[in-house]
This record gives sequence, C-alpha cells and structure tokens, in this order.
Amino acid sequence: MTSISLDNAAKRFGRVTVLNDINLDIEDGKFCVFLGPSGCGKSTLLRMIAGIETLSDGELKIGGQRMNEALPAERRVAMVFQNYALYPHMSVFENMAFGLKQAKTPKDEITNRVNEAAHILQIENLLERKPKELSGGQRQRVAIGRAIVRQPAVFLFDEPLSNLDAALRVHMRTEIANLHRKFPEASMIYVTHDQTEAMALADKIVLLRAGDDVIKKGSIAQIGSPLELYHRPQNLFVAGFLGSPS
Ligand code: ADP
Ligand code: MG
Repeated sequence: MTSISLDNAAKRFGRVTVLNDINLDIEDGKFCVFLGPSGCGKSTLLRMIAGIETLSDGELKIGGQRMNEALPAERRVAMVFQNYALYPHMSVFENMAFGLKQAKTPKDEITNRVNEAAHILQIENLLERKPKELSGGQRQRVAIGRAIVRQPAVFLFDEPLSNLDAALRVHMRTEIANLHRKFPEASMIYVTHDQTEAMALADKIVLLRAGDDVIKKGSIAQIGSPLELYHRPQNLFVAGFLGSPS
C-alpha cells in the first residue's frame, strides 16, 4: 500500500499561506508530477509528504494511515534533491550506505543493496570516488542510488534534473521512467516546472498555481492525465501554462 492522499491540506509560514485547500489522491504505483511555476509551493508540498515540513491544516495519509505526526523515517519515503545533497567527504559507496548504516542494517545487506543499486544505475565503477570527482549526471545517479537502497514505498524527486544540461536531462528523464518500470510497486512524485518533462513522465499531473495577491496562496489548478490537461484545460491558467489552444 503506497497510495498517498491529502485532505484539505494547507501550509502557512507565519502569517503567509503558501498552500491552501489541497485535496489529492495518488494511487498505488503511479507516477505523479507536481507541475507549476516557480514559487507556487511544489517543493513545500513534497516536503510535507516527506515529513520535512509539517501540515498547518488537513490530513496526510500514506497507505491509508494518517502520517501527519510520523517522523520522516517512519514514512517509507526517499527523497532526491535538485542539488544532489551528497556528503563531499564520503565516497560514492559511503554516500549510498549512510542511511542504511544509520538504520543499523547488517553490513552484508548494505553491501548487497548498494551494489544492486549501483548496477541499476551503471555506476559500479564509481563506488570509490568522491562526489567532486563526478560529473553532474553521475552525482545525480548517486543521489538516486541513495534513494533506491532504502527500498522506499514512495520516491520523491524535487527537480532532480534541473542542474543538468539539456541533452543529459533528456537522457536522465528516460532513466527515471525506467526506474519506475523497475519498481512498479513504488509510487513516484516528481516536482518540476517543465511541462515537457511532466508530459513525458506523468500518469497524473497536479498543476499548481501561485496566488496573485500579496498573501500568496498556492492552490491546485487542475489534476488529470497529461492528455486531459492538454485537451481539456479547466481554466485559462491551465491552458496558458501548457500552451494548448483555449
Ligand atoms: P516552488 O518549489 O514551487 O518553487 P516553494 O514550495 O519552494 O515553491 O515555495 C512556495 C512559497 O513558500 C514561496 O513563496 C516561498 O518563498 C515560500 N516558502 C518556502 N519555504 C519557506 C519557509 N521556510 N519560510 C517562509 N516561506 C517559505
Ligand atoms: Mg521548488
């Protein structure tokens, strides 16, 4: 059970409401993309699911269970960040093993899982290197590997490809789609501001918009498959953002 649901969720920072009235369901094993312009609250929403931010209102369920108060480690989620967030003084192997060591996973098991993830991502020959000896694409593979070894029920990606050059971005996008095929049970939530990326990857798109008043309130503009959003936009914002005829 890896379904995720948010019921009337909101997030406030002090007096500023950045997300309001968020209702959504992500079914087991689906690839869901949070799409929208910069500042609309995509990362905040992802961080609430990860347990890095609390909800100010509403309820979060993962696998049918209320998770509002659960610690990040209890949520069976693994997050991949835009800036990779690797430990610079550790080797690739140690970076991938770190979370498992913390969780007191047996040593043999750690070695097996790291080797398996390295194989999937074709970075077996980089395990002894330090992050500074890697290209951007290789670093992002290590960051993805670090998520895979934890065998999460839910993968969370926050603009993982936006620091890569255009050609590599297209290549890595295919790899992320393959990853979804390799772990069909896991749900994936992928944050991006790039509609092409969203169209290529998503089973379901959650298109967010930022509020236009001083007290910004990010909200959901439309939820649907890529084709639904493109061919049947429910409002001008959706039509404009996806560039479809309205
Ligand atoms: P996105 O990822 O879509 O670009 P974010 O979720 O990063 O958007 O931010 C949404 C809004 O919340 C922005 O206006 C941002 O400035 C604000 N925000 C994010 N984190 C904090 C924070 N810790 N404190 C105050 N405001 C924040
Ligand atoms: Mg963001």
